[in-house]
Formats: sequence, structure tokens, C-alpha cells
Amino acid sequence: MKKIISLLLIATLMLTGIVMVSCADDTKTNENEAVENASDADLNETPEEPEVKKLTVNEGKLTMGTNAQFPPYEYYEDGKIVGIDAEIAAAIAEKLGLELVIEDMEFNSIITAVVSNGVDMGLAGMTVTEERLESVNFSTSYATGIQSVIVVEGNGVESLDDLAGKKIGVQLSTTGDIYASGDYGEDNVIKYNKGADAVLALIGGDVQAVIIDNEPAKSYLAANPDAGLKILDTEYAVEEYAAAINKENTELLNAVNAAIEEMILDGTIDAIVAKYIPAE
Ligand code: GLN
Repeated sequence: MKKIISLLLIATLMLTGIVMVSCADDTKTNENEAVENASDADLNETPEEPEVKKLTVNEGKLTMGTNAQFPPYEYYEDGKIVGIDAEIAAAIAEKLGLELVIEDMEFNSIITAVVSNGVDMGLAGMTVTEERLESVNFSTSYATGIQSVIVVEGNGVESLDDLAGKKIGVQLSTTGDIYASGDYGEDNVIKYNKGADAVLALIGGDVQAVIIDNEPAKSYLAANPDAGLKILDTEYAVEEYAAAINKENTELLNAVNAAIEEMILDGTIDAIVAKYIPAE
């Protein structure tokens, strides 16, 4: 890995023109050559070879911000955060020669942590949205997400058409919250800090539906087998999950994209997903 880092460093130095500075004593012609060489290096660069400048906030570490209440993407098992995102992040970190550190936080705080360089990337079953793109960059998408509607059997919500005027539970600041607040009005949307609390409210009759990502929805059904919960057949929304990265850190974005694209092509991502989401 050291070798890769030094190669990347050399590439970076060339691109940033430091090579030119070291040639400062040379004649003007040589300087121009250096410029030409630098642009040659630029042209020859392939997307698989990201230029790595300031890669991460803590040297040698890849710090991921997540909300570990989102099975099967991130959740606790024996005191450890596991799941699809945790494994994908571990594989990315390994490819970059970095040690993965996972920080658990409110979902609502992840983008802020990325923007303020508290973490290197947000990986949290996070949907790419126009609004989030104003604050952060998103990597290549690694999964499709679905917003599903959970109801209690026989509670009068049989299809999306029945949602109008009903109380809908969501997890604060998620796309379920954003879309439902737009479609059904803020007054009808009750926001909970945790998806699990929204589901408890549904079971208790405080809300008549919960709009939440499909995979966690399935876990909530499995965790409450006697509550009469069901997921409506019609999907409320289909979206893309990706890693959120600080807009300034294009080096890391390129490196993460290269890693994700490699893992999509060689089947690593499919294998990780299949481990947590058995084919139906
Ligand atoms: N996919 C949803 C979003 O990005 C929910 C993610 C989550 O709760 N971890 O808003």
C-alpha cells in the first residue's frame, strides 16, 4: 500500500505543479516542458487512479458516519455495528489501505458531520436527493432503495389512495418524511427520531401508516410478528443509495467511486447484499 500511496503522491505533486517549482532554477524552456509533462500526466490518468491529496480527516483512517438503527444496512449485533453499509465501507477502506472507523449518530446529523469534516463519508442507506446534493457530493450509487408503506391489517389503509387525511409516521429528515410532508401536508406527518418508534406508534394506533425504507420495514415486520403489520404492495417511491462525501474532497470521492465501481463489476456488492437480504 505504501507503494501505491507514494505513486499517488508523485502523481499529485506533478499535477499540483510542485514539480515545476523544483525546476525553478532551470531555463524557461524547461519550465514549459514541465507544464507539458504535467498536462500529459493529466491526460494519461485513468479514472481508476484517483489523485490522492488530503484523503481523509484522520490520517490512515476512513471515518464513516451512520445511524445504526437501519437494519439490514446498519445495526448493532453483539455491541458491534454490522450490516450491508458496514461491510461495503470495510471493503472500500481495505481497497484504500485505510482503517475503517464507524461513528453512530442521529440520521439527521450525518450530512452536517460530512460538511463539517467530522467524518469522511456518510453511509447510511442514504438516498441521493437534489436538496442533499446542495450540501454534499454523492458517490456512485451502490443500491436501490424503496420507500414502502407499513399499515396494520384492517386499519382502513389498503392502498396509497387511502393515505390522504390519515396520520402518517416517518423517521425525521428521511426521504419518507420529506416526500410524505410534501404529498400529505406537515400536519398529517408525525416525525419520530427512530423508525422503530414510528412503528410502535403504528402498532399503538397513534398513526395509521408508516412510510419508511423497504428493508428496515421488513425487519420491523419480522420483529413484531403478532402486531398484524403489513407492507402495501404498491411502492411509494424508488430511489438510489450512495455515500455522501464533502464537496471539497473530490480525491476521496474519486477513490470511493473507483472502489464501488470495481465492487459492482466483480460482484462483491451483490455478495454482501445477498448475505443480508436473501433472494425472495
Ligand atoms: N433512505 C432514507 C433517506 O436517505 C432513510 C435512510 C435512513 O434512515 N438511514 O432519507
